[in-house]
Amino acid sequence: MSARARELRAEGKDIISFAAGEPDFPTPEHILAAATRAAHDPVNHHYSQNTGLPALREAISEYTKRFSGIETDPTRVIVTNGAKQAIFGISAALFDPGDEVLVPAPYWVTYPASIELAGGTPVAVPTSGATGFKVSVDDLHSKRTRATKGLILVSPSNPTGAVYTESELASIAAWAVEQGIWVIADEIYQRLAYRYDDAAPSIATAHPDLERLVLVNGVAKSFAMTGWRVGWAVGPADVIDAAARFQSHATGNVANVSQQAALAALTGPQETVETMRAAFDRRRELMFQMVSDLPGFRCHEPEGAFYVFPDVSEAAARAGMTSDGLAMAILEEAGVATVSGESFGTPGFIRLSYALGEGDIEAGMGRISAFLESL
Ligand code: PMP
Repeated sequence: MSARARELRAEGKDIISFAAGEPDFPTPEHILAAATRAAHDPVNHHYSQNTGLPALREAISEYTKRFSGIETDPTRVIVTNGAKQAIFGISAALFDPGDEVLVPAPYWVTYPASIELAGGTPVAVPTSGATGFKVSVDDLHSKRTRATKGLILVSPSNPTGAVYTESELASIAAWAVEQGIWVIADEIYQRLAYRYDDAAPSIATAHPDLERLVLVNGVAKSFAMTGWRVGWAVGPADVIDAAARFQSHATGNVANVSQQAALAALTGPQETVETMRAAFDRRRELMFQMVSDLPGFRCHEPEGAFYVFPDVSEAAARAGMTSDGLAMAILEEAGVATVSGESFGTPGFIRLSYALGEGDIEAGMGRISAFLESL
């Protein structure tokens, strides 16, 4: 879909993209200033510790305490090339052939891919709009076998925007402890949760005995830093150590200038996060309203991240298409790029990102509406 969108743009077509998985804002100025300083300091021109700069690992420990609520220390932190590499490295450390890993669906496609690259088997746990796209303990238990080794849980979610409450996380954590199952909790969108002042609830504080837990996080979404490639994992020292040994041979240290930028993001003023969050919240309301008004679209209100994930099965059936076909037709005929639910293991839906200006949101939604009316 994005390749086709690029081709159409190259042909001179005016394409509005609701397909982006990243903030449209530039990285805040004070972070750029820190990166510029770092680029001029020769200490950053050389290899550094494979697990991350000590000051950044320390800052990540503090940040984890503040936003995920648990005490940790730098020996339990690894800095990675984005949260993506954290998920990959932790999967490689934890999962082996024969292991099954539960992945609530719709899922971000990197989860099953990372599990498979580690030799494990992803097991989708379906959810629906009726339950706000959240899994319950019963849902998880119905897919649990003797081979189940872990669960990858994301809140707020890409692609659905679902945010688990504290009590929902407490039930899942209690179940994981009782079953002896590892939890990888992806908290990359934790500060983009619109019903919470500070951050979405973390599973880290949900159960006192949840020791088989790895938190994954990063600066990409909260600080508009997707291109800098800094993420991290926080977990038991032996798991972090295994991921570090893997990383030392795969990529070595994360770029020092990017790490210094991330350090400035975590330790510097936090107002820009709030400004961006408020902008996303306004766009969320606008987008949710407009998507809900589209004929043949049914939308569950998202509470976090920057996506809406409507059920388009009625509109697709009316057009005699799959949701993938409908998304392609919306691109070709209306000039709007989206991502179909097929990409997240759930046909019948499409994902629209609201990480773009309100004028573009209104224009793009107007085009989709006119296209659907013409069917
Ligand atoms: N987790 C989720 C749920 C995401 O949506 C993304 C980005 N699409 C990532 C992790 C990856 O973040 P990073 O850019 O830090 O690799």
